[in-house]
Amino acid sequence: MLFGRRRKNPIRIADKGVKEWRYTTCGYCSTGCSIEVGLDEHGRAVASRGVGGADVNRGKLCIKGIFEHELFNSANRGNKPLIRDRHHEPFREATWDEAVDRVAGEIKRIQATYGPDAFSIVSTGQIMTEEFYTLGKLVRGCIGTNNYDGNTTLCMASAVSGYKRSFGSDGPPGCYDDFEHTECLLAIGSNLPEQHPIIFWRLRQALEKRRFPVIVVDPRITMFAQMADIHLPINPGTDVVLLNSLAHVIVEEGLEERAYIEAYTTGFDAFAEVVQGYDPRTASHICGIDEDTIRNVARTYARAGAAMTIWTMGINQSTHGSDGVVGVNNLNLITGNIGKRGGTSLSITGQSNAMGTREWSSCSGLPGYRLLENEEHRKEIAAYWGIDPNFFPTRRGLAQTDIFAAIETGHIKGLWLVATNPMTSMPDTARTRRILEKLEFLVVQDAYADVETNEYSHAYLPAALWAEKEGCFTNTERRVNLVRNVMPPYGDSKPDLWIFNQLAKRLQNGSGIVFPETAEGAFQELRELSKGRMLDYSGMTYEKLEKQRGIQWPCSDGQQTGSPRLYTDGVFQHPDGKARLIPLPFVDNNERPDEAYPFWLNSGRVVEHFHTRTRTGKLGNLNKFSPTPYMEMNPDAARGLGIPHGSYARLISRRGDAVVMVQLTQRVPRDMVFVPFHFHECVNRVSLGLLDPHSRQPAYKQCAVRVEPVADQKGAAVRNLAARSY
Ligand code: SF4
Repeated sequence: MLFGRRRKNPIRIADKGVKEWRYTTCGYCSTGCSIEVGLDEHGRAVASRGVGGADVNRGKLCIKGIFEHELFNSANRGNKPLIRDRHHEPFREATWDEAVDRVAGEIKRIQATYGPDAFSIVSTGQIMTEEFYTLGKLVRGCIGTNNYDGNTTLCMASAVSGYKRSFGSDGPPGCYDDFEHTECLLAIGSNLPEQHPIIFWRLRQALEKRRFPVIVVDPRITMFAQMADIHLPINPGTDVVLLNSLAHVIVEEGLEERAYIEAYTTGFDAFAEVVQGYDPRTASHICGIDEDTIRNVARTYARAGAAMTIWTMGINQSTHGSDGVVGVNNLNLITGNIGKRGGTSLSITGQSNAMGTREWSSCSGLPGYRLLENEEHRKEIAAYWGIDPNFFPTRRGLAQTDIFAAIETGHIKGLWLVATNPMTSMPDTARTRRILEKLEFLVVQDAYADVETNEYSHAYLPAALWAEKEGCFTNTERRVNLVRNVMPPYGDSKPDLWIFNQLAKRLQNGSGIVFPETAEGAFQELRELSKGRMLDYSGMTYEKLEKQRGIQWPCSDGQQTGSPRLYTDGVFQHPDGKARLIPLPFVDNNERPDEAYPFWLNSGRVVEHFHTRTRTGKLGNLNKFSPTPYMEMNPDAARGLGIPHGSYARLISRRGDAVVMVQLTQRVPRDMVFVPFHFHECVNRVSLGLLDPHSRQPAYKQCAVRVEPVADQKGAAVRNLAARSY
């Protein structure tokens, strides 16, 4: 055996000629991996590696991080500002002054003609926290439109809404270290190995030291479901029914934590009355999980010394997304699993700085989790910025999904998109195209000029990418990580902070607001504004962030490091300090398969790609493993329709159709097909995206489709290849 090993060729790592490694933080997902980019003797980025001493990733990176250095010189980076009068005319190059003047002029014109809210802004989860803060200052303090949101409405809004309803504030209460202490993990609608490979690796590390049950709830037999101790293949959109039923068993059998409920929560009686109606037999007919399994899972979870739940889009992207999150929180509150090691409700976020936008962008409120609806909060921020508090609206404006509807009805005439690509990410592509065509003025600010939405813009502002600038990202576990500047911006592209500052100079509207010119200057402002608040940053500095490889908030002035968990004292953010147990009656309100459209359409991610492939679609090392859109289909269902493995089929809904390559697999049940969401002109041509009433997040994962064989296989192959586009 030993002999055999000796004979094996040793692994050789190619010498890339790295002369210097520079510390930064990965710019893709919310895991928050510390990364070093290797520069050769000419200053070119030639390699990436994980940082060994970083607590998050402990030297590891997923495939996206490993090739991240290739982004700096990837295809179709924006170099010069571009402008045109009509979106179907060719662009012409402009100077920065000319382009920014044009954008500022159009914002002023539209607001003067139609009112301040007729211009809208949708940003992202990708830029730095300091940039979010500065954009918020510009929008709330100068421009004055209330129709300002982030694209996190498409992914995290239900988690935010659910946390606020249960705990009185946004903010994930737990951390990755909880894997080391939990005695039961429940994962709902999260395919962790593909979506967040390094968080999954942290879980595997914990499981290697100590076994505990892993229960995965997912309609598909995902990679995660394949390694679970118990897999619950739930019917789409019925998480609330399952969660109510688990609570039913816990209360019925007296497994709840009475002392915790009485000390730290309100609303138990009304909650218990509603869950009484969700006995496992009744629930099994709706959610598709048999009675015994529901009882077994409820007992396992409630009897564990510490139990935790993680979730991703499977819960959030639903017409019951916010209720699903509240249902998870209810489960953890009645079992006393909030604020203790190994017990938590941990929403695994998506984009690298989805948390930063939630904390500091002022999209749905004011900086530092302050509310527009709260007079004291309006006064605090107005005083700090030196403006009249009456300039602020007294309630939040439209969410992204409602902004698009308001463009459709003609109430909004202008839109500024920052690092987001609705032509691929919004449900119902045909409708999105019609909406964008209605705009009098669309400006796209992005690192890539070929982003699909730019086809409909009147101005394009080329932004610097990720580590071409400096600032912070907050990860899933509230860890603030420092993104150090590794390279200068590509060509004539500029950091988003610089662009916001240029617009601020032109859009002051006599406010006299002073804008920080550097990222560290903005960081100083948000440190001061955070003092004494739940998300206290005041004990952080850039040096400490780099040295400690990230710090979890709260970290107040004088503290050496941050706090891994929230609510350890049982004090929540509602005015009475208690968490709310909220009854969740289930209403079946989504499109369902029927005779004409007999399949559920499910969508999700693949490990090689990130969101709309704006970045990963440019990298050969990622594209070669996941080159084209495809559809997973059950072999029995395909046989009935005469659709062979590897052929092209047409996916049809009431909205539109898309042609995709068929991959036959038992991973999906007979009445479901699954399509990765990354590809343009694919799944969102057919998706419906009804909205959650609380969070306004679209239900991407539930709609009805039919599948037909395609006669012209050759033509379909050509079109499919074109969908790769890069
Ligand atoms: Fe980057 Fe996320 Fe991969 Fe870590 S897991 S390397 S943060 S994409």
